[in-house]
Amino acid sequence: MSESGSPTLDLLLEGRPCLVVGGGGHAIGPVGRLLRARAQVHVVAPTLVTALQDLVERDLITWSPHEFTAADLHGILVVAPASDSPSLDAAVHDAAEAAGVLLLPRSTRRETPSPSHVTSSPAVEVDDALEPSTGAARSGGDRGERCGSVVLVGGGPGSPELITVAGREAVLRADVVVVDRLAPLALLDDLGPEVEIVDVSKIPRGRFTPQEEINAVLVDRARAGKRVVRLKGGDPFVFGRGMEEHIACSEAGVPVSVIPGVTSAVSAPALAGIPVTHRGLVQGFAIVSGHAAPDDPRSTIDWAALGRSGVTIVVLMGVETLPRIARALIEAGRDADTPVASVMDAALPSQRTHVSTLGRFADGATQEVRAPAVTVIGDVARFAQGS
Ligand code: SAH
Repeated sequence: MSESGSPTLDLLLEGRPCLVVGGGGHAIGPVGRLLRARAQVHVVAPTLVTALQDLVERDLITWSPHEFTAADLHGILVVAPASDSPSLDAAVHDAAEAAGVLLLPRSTRRETPSPSHVTSSPAVEVDDALEPSTGAARSGGDRGERCGSVVLVGGGPGSPELITVAGREAVLRADVVVVDRLAPLALLDDLGPEVEIVDVSKIPRGRFTPQEEINAVLVDRARAGKRVVRLKGGDPFVFGRGMEEHIACSEAGVPVSVIPGVTSAVSAPALAGIPVTHRGLVQGFAIVSGHAAPDDPRSTIDWAALGRSGVTIVVLMGVETLPRIARALIEAGRDADTPVASVMDAALPSQRTHVSTLGRFADGATQEVRAPAVTVIGDVARFAQGS
């Protein structure tokens, strides 16, 4: 583990009850960090931002929806005061000391100087920071204005170790991080308390922030002179709506650049031991969204052609529609014995893989598959490990 944790402390935390007090943006980092250490994470806060709500719904953390009281510390090994209120954090600190509960050391988190101390000219600082090292294409904005900037950063599949070096640097230099639920949340624990964290997660068929609102946050913060990082899961341009945000910033005259990321479409299979191509077995792969099923009028994919294509098919956002996808592919001529592997929670300690066949999926036997999942359809799925 890198700066997002201390190996010795992590050994101590594994399987142990830990408490995070706070349900806002500042609680996301400590929760991600404790999850990475495989701790049993409980959150106490009257409300949760969507990224945390999502972790509750995925049974990765538990939540008590009320204000913190000292009684919440009962049976807890380590507590992280992570609310948006310094006075509540101080009260948690005092209660922990009185109860003999350890505090999650801030020393494991990066103490970044406040960006306002770093420079009085954020625009110049941002340009220096980003241009040569990332090779990212910039557009929009007038570099002479006192305007900040937006960097769309691909965070990789979810582990803080699978973001690019350029992406990580951009996150650690940000004044504002606008984050999605599938981004590497543990990385936020390395940010100083002065960094604003805005959660704009979308839960499929659940809570979400409208895209226009996300665009407005990016533009407004940048116009206020801030270095804004839009931290997304995987790659920003693979089903990430990254281009919509890029266009919104450009149209508003805000300088915007992109740092690509490791897409889950390839990395989730790889982390489960599955190559999307393999010499002698398959010569290509197609990444598709399962959001609109084959029989859905909104689907623009030629599923029959895909079925006949002979390439590995990688389905994202398709847990609900897997049976209909499997049926369409079999109708198009794919063998019902074709192996399929669904990799869930890739790059997180909770990662698991469900291996089956196209025929069983077509019969509706997909109960074991829970979102988020990347499903690989094709002979390469035979290589799956860790099912
Ligand atoms: N831009 C992202 C994809 C966003 S769409 C990328 O390049 O990876 C969201 C979908 O990505 C999810 O529904 C799921 O299919 C997939 N996904 C993202 N992270 C994942 C993870 N850690 N484990 C499994 N699937 C993941």
